[in-house]
Amino acid sequence: MKIYKFGGTSLGTAGRIKKVADILAGATQKEKIVVVVSAIHRVTDLLLDSATKACIGESSYRTTLEELDHLHLSIASELFSGHLLDEVSAAIRAELSYLNNIVQGVFLLRELSEKSLALVMSFGERISARIVSACLQERGMASFSLDARELIVTDANYADAMVDMHASELQIKKRLASVSSIEGVPVVTGFIAAAPDGTVTTLGRGGSDYTASILGAALSASEIWIWTDVDGFFSADPKRVRDARILPYISYAEAMELSHAGARVLHPLAVQPAMKAGIPLLIKNSFNLAAQGTRIEKATLPELSRPLPVTGLSSINNIVLLNMSGSGMVGVPGIASRIFSCLARHRINIIFISQASSEQSITLAINPAQAAKAKKILEEEFNGEIGSRQIDHLLIRRNLAMIAVVGNNMSGHPGVSAQLFETLGKNGINVIAVAQGANEMNISLVIESHDEDKALNCIHESFFLSQRKVHLFIAGTGTIAKSLISQISAHRLNLQQDNDLDVVVCGMANTRQIALDDNGLDLDNWQELLQPRVEHPGIEGYLQLIRERNLHNTIFVDCTASAKVAEIYPDLLLANISIVTANKLGMAGPWPLYRSIREAQRKSNARFLCETNVGAGLPIINTLHDLKNSGDKILSIEGVLSGTLSFIFNELRKGGKFSDIVRRAQEAGYTEPDPRDDLSGADFARKFLILGRELGFTLEYGDVVCESLVPPEYQGEMAVPEFLDRLSSVDAWYSETAEKAASEGMTIAYAGEIREGKATIGVKRVPLSSPIAGLSGSENMVVFTTERYRVTPLVVRGPGAGAEVTAGGVFADILRIASYLV
Ligand code: ADP
Ligand code: ASP
Ligand code: MG
Repeated sequence: MKIYKFGGTSLGTAGRIKKVADILAGATQKEKIVVVVSAIHRVTDLLLDSATKACIGESSYRTTLEELDHLHLSIASELFSGHLLDEVSAAIRAELSYLNNIVQGVFLLRELSEKSLALVMSFGERISARIVSACLQERGMASFSLDARELIVTDANYADAMVDMHASELQIKKRLASVSSIEGVPVVTGFIAAAPDGTVTTLGRGGSDYTASILGAALSASEIWIWTDVDGFFSADPKRVRDARILPYISYAEAMELSHAGARVLHPLAVQPAMKAGIPLLIKNSFNLAAQGTRIEKATLPELSRPLPVTGLSSINNIVLLNMSGSGMVGVPGIASRIFSCLARHRINIIFISQASSEQSITLAINPAQAAKAKKILEEEFNGEIGSRQIDHLLIRRNLAMIAVVGNNMSGHPGVSAQLFETLGKNGINVIAVAQGANEMNISLVIESHDEDKALNCIHESFFLSQRKVHLFIAGTGTIAKSLISQISAHRLNLQQDNDLDVVVCGMANTRQIALDDNGLDLDNWQELLQPRVEHPGIEGYLQLIRERNLHNTIFVDCTASAKVAEIYPDLLLANISIVTANKLGMAGPWPLYRSIREAQRKSNARFLCETNVGAGLPIINTLHDLKNSGDKILSIEGVLSGTLSFIFNELRKGGKFSDIVRRAQEAGYTEPDPRDDLSGADFARKFLILGRELGFTLEYGDVVCESLVPPEYQGEMAVPEFLDRLSSVDAWYSETAEKAASEGMTIAYAGEIREGKATIGVKRVPLSSPIAGLSGSENMVVFTTERYRVTPLVVRGPGAGAEVTAGGVFADILRIASYLV
């Protein structure tokens, strides 16, 4: 004989109920089945809702009751016809009219005791058992519904009643022991029971699983099958953790730990009776009969020896922490015992306890509904100590979640907590309280509610998946972003296969358009996915969307050249979002912005990388940091950090007129549309400003001495063609200066230099032997002269601009952060 329990999710519609009947029709052919049912999907919530509304005088409770009428009667009329329909509808109407009277009474009295509430909540199962049993009759199977008030005896704690196992066993045996000889399939109401005086009690939300287990144990069933809407017990709630995996076997102890810590798939008490009687529990999907499901039994099977230390995670998303502290608690025996017994007397369930060895404070987690009561009774209990300031007033902290990491194999396995806290820390998730029992099967921690999904996902990924994810949100859709996307797209598979890393682009936005997908945008088609930005405008709006998503391992990638975007870097870092930027306007922005980026970085666990701010993909900033961090002293940095100016002076060295060369450079697309933007040296100066700051100097843009190559009279409004025409006026000066330099074994170059905290940029005479004199085309170069590299300076040379190399540098920064995060 088996117990089959169908949850509300399996009884959501007439169609679903027919599927249940199909399952039972097949199963009862083979053996005797005792069926346990929950209320139809949503019904218990609606019942609760109607009573609570009535109690506070909201007349909309009537609409809720009408909804209940409609829901049940329409299912009946879809399932049945003729005489059976009349019979079932009449039974439903009778139950609902009784319910109506009760709720109306609550409305009139404005009073809702736990006793009345249990009565109200019992109607869901009472009606569903009738419907399911009638549905079996409709199939020609003999069946009858059975009210669990006749079977399960509890105490009079109506909402969460404690079962009297002995009395219940006797009742169940009396009614069903000869089940094999009983004619018809019994369909038992889950969730509800009766106090010794016969009044209705309930076994707590989700309690039908418990009913099934109690029945199974009393009747010595061979197995207890819990039919629900997921393929089994997963390593985490599959509705919250996308990559959760099914657990084919788990031990009773693990199932108990996980369900106590919030895995709704099984009621926390449901394991006990089955475990005591040694009956396996199976979790099966009524929507997917082919799925093997999960088997819960003793931990001795060889299959249970899994290689992973952690079996699963679960969470309770709304708890309250009570914190009692004070110097008067240190070394005083009996404080904990007083707290616990006082709470137990008032039937307040403690979900979590933590006390550090100093005994200065005890932290408890409880259900929010009981928080005010708990505070009151504890303050009464410790009134004397609070009065004499030995104990402080009790602190309550709300909006918290508890996460439990559970596994048989965690015991004696070093490194589990290290891995757990490291993952949380890198994702900026603050752990408020922690508890681990000496059986080492469960590490529970309390965090802010809004971090719950992020925590579940990053912990899950860390323990269960070899492949880890980083989530990118890109700002800007210009040439750099385009190249970056195509590089990621081309290389993603390799990263997945060789590095176990999945780079997921979750967002792209410019000032007008946006595309978002937490599962990853289609990288071959992202431009078509861009939608006009209606809500959440501006970079602040994008930031808000990113924060709302709160995905783990998030990296913000700035491919814009916008000062506004750069201004939000500190906020991003403080929200523990790492940044990779190709935009110079943060590092070269006003000093207060630079400083607040660096400060935010120190405070946050997120990373900030900006290698492409100087010399595009060339390893300049990294080299600078490596030299500095390894104790070398940088004496000077010289270099050419403008492709355009590099080209102009390299050509000038070959001979030719300055203005002609500028014109050629412009025609070849080497310059900005207005070549004066390059000739002014402003962009070049910003790069030296960044280098100076990274060397540790407090520099503003104005401190960089920058010689503009645009004569003062040609600056301003003058049109580009006119400017180019007039530029010939300076040709003679350049030719003469270049010739003079050459005659002295020197050459001229537009170069920058930082020495002793001073940054200067302009036309310089350099020896022909200098590496700078050997540049060609539009190459960039940085020359580090340091104590270690004094005789032969360290040179970084190569193309210092272009979307491809810049995007490559951005991609490399992303991978650097990824290797820190995962
Ligand atoms: P039923 O109405 O069938 O009793 P419940 O809603 O009570 O269904 O329980 C099933 C739900 O439990 C699933 O839909 C899933 O979202 C949730 N759940 C939470 N944790 C887990 C887990 N570890 N494995 C499977 N399901 C889980
Ligand atoms: N119907 C009850 C509830 O929704 C019991 C159950 O589903 O197991 O909590
Ligand atoms: Mg359930």
